[in-house]
Amino acid sequence: MESPLAALPPVHEVLRDPAFREASAGLAEVYRTALVRRVIQQHRDRMRAGAAGPEPAAPAVIAACIAEAEALARPFPRRVINGTGVLIHTNLGRAPLGDLLQRLDLQALSGYTDLEWDAATQQRGSRDAALQRQLRLLTGAEDALVVNNCASALLLALNTLATGREVLVSRGELVEIGGSFRVPEIMQASGCRLREVGTTNRTRIADFEENATPAAAVLLKVHQSNFVQRGFVEQVGVGQMVELGARLGVPVLEDNGSGLIRGAGNTLLDDEPRVEDSLRAGVDVVCFSADKLFGGVQGGIIVGRAGPLAAMRGNPLYRALRLDKVRMALLDVALKRHLSGGADDLPLWHLFHTSTEEMEERSEGLRLPGPETRWAVCERVPLRATLGGGSNPEASFPSLGLELRHRDLSAEALRRRFAARAIPIVGYVQRDRFCLDLRTFFPHDLAELQAALDGLCG
Ligand SMILES: *Cc1c(COP(=O)(O)O)cnc(C)c1O
Repeated sequence: MESPLAALPPVHEVLRDPAFREASAGLAEVYRTALVRRVIQQHRDRMRAGAAGPEPAAPAVIAACIAEAEALARPFPRRVINGTGVLIHTNLGRAPLGDLLQRLDLQALSGYTDLEWDAATQQRGSRDAALQRQLRLLTGAEDALVVNNCASALLLALNTLATGREVLVSRGELVEIGGSFRVPEIMQASGCRLREVGTTNRTRIADFEENATPAAAVLLKVHQSNFVQRGFVEQVGVGQMVELGARLGVPVLEDNGSGLIRGAGNTLLDDEPRVEDSLRAGVDVVCFSADKLFGGVQGGIIVGRAGPLAAMRGNPLYRALRLDKVRMALLDVALKRHLSGGADDLPLWHLFHTSTEEMEERSEGLRLPGPETRWAVCERVPLRATLGGGSNPEASFPSLGLELRHRDLSAEALRRRFAARAIPIVGYVQRDRFCLDLRTFFPHDLAELQAALDGLCG
């Protein structure tokens, strides 16, 4: 009996297939061949393991090669329309950059730059001097440093200030932010020892004091970020920690996370810790994300006293965590915006401050399909949007969106249909309705939404 492996097509046969050639038009011959070899090998392995499907091998191999070539050709990241009403959606790339990108000097970035060269002295310069200068003015800090993200910032700070020694932190602040960031794990990776103080719901300054042995190197404050504690709770304020730290000669480090800089005046933000307030209260080092409430690109900003920051700059880890010129350029543009018009002038805060009246006006061009179509309900309705990104998870604010019900598709099926579009539209299901919040839409997204609605009319 002939081995079923004989049904696998030879490489040259797949390479001749017109549909595959078209799908792989963007690949040089050498990579096109490598792709086909790889897919055939996978099928061979699967057949040997007895796991191949019932379909004849050759068409299945060609289809798999086409799918792989299409996946390779797809740009990344792709545009997605955010209809979730979550302004800082980590899975959708956090803060939108809006017109900040247009402010980049593409000519500079496409050629050579003075990234580490000082034209005045014609000597090697520092790559973060420009951002440092702006961050000092913006936050009132003595010194500033930028790294890959807030997790890096915390890693660098802890590794520099507390390797082999103890970091005291409240049990109520041993948080997890997203699947891969857990404060105890970062602490372990940074080489210091975690010393938990207090209890999950209540920690007092006396708990820190009682646990401060000569091994204590840092008092750490972590913004609780993505959860809210209610009831019989008590956390230590930074003021008290600063007072104790000064008495013990131990620096206070704050993982602020969301990075709210003054301005952005709204009662929704009253409970959010502001970077400059912590510095003014005497916190030695504050770390925050550059792509949450700060409204920029992914980055970790460290601000604080000159002493500890100089030590961080001298740590070999800084070299491993530093930023590239493109992201530095984006942070530069965001910082200039903060300095000229305040946080409210950033694209993220424009979305936040848009009134529901303005949203209504903007969406007037939408032709909502009526009940004579397969749409049972397609209405503009008030919704609640949230900031997301580790800011108060319970604070929502008024928004406007669409509530959708279809005669042939469940809300869940609608959600999947919209998500499967060439330009995915991401919404959420609530009480058997599919909802799209327009707050997180950009003007150019409306035509896509119209097409999606029209496509399911008949
Ligand atoms: C979001 C967050 C982080 C992680 O920030 P990244 O920039 O994603 O690394 C760390 N700490 C807190 C408190 C946060 O909210």
